[in-house]
Amino acid sequence: MSYSFEKFIRIGTCALVAAGLFLPSPAFAFPAKNSPLIQQSACAQGYRSKEEYEAEQRAVKKSESLMHSGRLQEAIEYLRDEIAQNPRSAVLQFEMGNAYLRSRDFTSAIERYQQAVRLRNPFPEACLNAAYACMDAGMELQAIPWFHKYLRENPHSERAKEVEAELLVAHAKSQMKEKRNFDAKQTLERALQISPKSDLVLFSLARVRTELGDTQGAIRAYEEILQINPKHSAALLNMAECYQTSGQLQQAISWLKKYAANNPNAADLGQIQNLIVALSEKSSEQKSDPQALDYVGCITEAGRFYRWPANRLPIKVWVAQGEGVPGFKPEFRNSFFDALNSWMKAGQGRLQYVLVESKEQADLTAEWTGSPYDVKPTGHNVEQGVCMLKTLDRGHNFIEIGRADIRILTIDRNNQQPLSDEEMKKTCLHELGHAMGLQGHSTNNHDIMFFSMSNTNWPVLSKRDRATLFMIYQHYRPLVSVQQ
Ligand SMILES: [Zn+2]
Repeated sequence: MSYSFEKFIRIGTCALVAAGLFLPSPAFAFPAKNSPLIQQSACAQGYRSKEEYEAEQRAVKKSESLMHSGRLQEAIEYLRDEIAQNPRSAVLQFEMGNAYLRSRDFTSAIERYQQAVRLRNPFPEACLNAAYACMDAGMELQAIPWFHKYLRENPHSERAKEVEAELLVAHAKSQMKEKRNFDAKQTLERALQISPKSDLVLFSLARVRTELGDTQGAIRAYEEILQINPKHSAALLNMAECYQTSGQLQQAISWLKKYAANNPNAADLGQIQNLIVALSEKSSEQKSDPQALDYVGCITEAGRFYRWPANRLPIKVWVAQGEGVPGFKPEFRNSFFDALNSWMKAGQGRLQYVLVESKEQADLTAEWTGSPYDVKPTGHNVEQGVCMLKTLDRGHNFIEIGRADIRILTIDRNNQQPLSDEEMKKTCLHELGHAMGLQGHSTNNHDIMFFSMSNTNWPVLSKRDRATLFMIYQHYRPLVSVQQ
């Protein structure tokens, strides 16, 4: 598998976190000034005196004005002093929670909201903001009881529908963490019925569709978000990711430019600019139509391709045992041979291999490593494996492959976990494609030789992968029938 734009993938993941940020969204339940809630409480909540109530209101006003002007640390210090004088005030604890939430100190925010609810129950805003703080902290399971509590206590609130949908998003996010993406999709579809314009629901739905390889569906969800909020920065960025995944690089570039124009002070702007440059280079390299029957144009240089000369067949293959390599599983060798056999089959009998006893006797070797440093990037490509070719140019219409040495990383570059069997099969298919002579990358995200990491290809050769391989070797005599 190819990880051409590793940086980009990482940005995509961050974007997910950023979109869970509720602060700028109307979902955030700050009480309106002089809200009926607080006025009622003046008599109902047992303030010892009118003075005490008025002092609290002044403190709320002051801390909110500090927060609105972005002076969060000052607000926190101010509230700390006020709470020291009035430790029984639920409202001040709630304000403190808001100051911490705005500073993205989720643990402290949750503690303060809990404290506020302990002092005054029910306290719907504190309850809801506790749920949002849990969501922002990535603790969806902890958010669920807060959402339930809110709905139990405020079944007829005008926010009830929205909160019900948010509760389902919390469920869906925890399903996604367990890799139950299909269940998560169904949960989110229910949420969308309850709250069809919620950007939170739409955004989560786009993410799960991406995970399921439904890039077109993800694009539709992002389009809806951007209709509601054209400056939704995470949606802009992920839109670019979707188009990059589907090989439509010009569109990807134009979304990245929109993101950059809307976020001139973003911390990741440098990375985005680099990505635009890399994608532009890649885009100008695109020589073939992603819908054509093969992608020969992507793997030839001035009309010449790489291939094993007929006198080197069958290819002598040796694969390391992998003992002691971190993350290695014996199943990985099976994945390798499955992949090799798939390519042989694509050659329709024109390609064959034999296993040899030692590395020295082999022309095609494969070794395993747990260290990303052993799998060095070539150009912009940072792959899960690397294939090094020794070639000989005799001036024919093709370049001869003398030997191929493959090195495969057993640990997933992105999450440092051992690779799943499916990802391993994809990696082996991709690197072996290079070893068979496919020196280049496809621009169609359903091909195994697609240039970028993608959930949209399967651990099998596409029709186009097979056709391209066959094109290289079509004039060779079928070895299988010769032997028969
Ligand atoms: Zn590659």
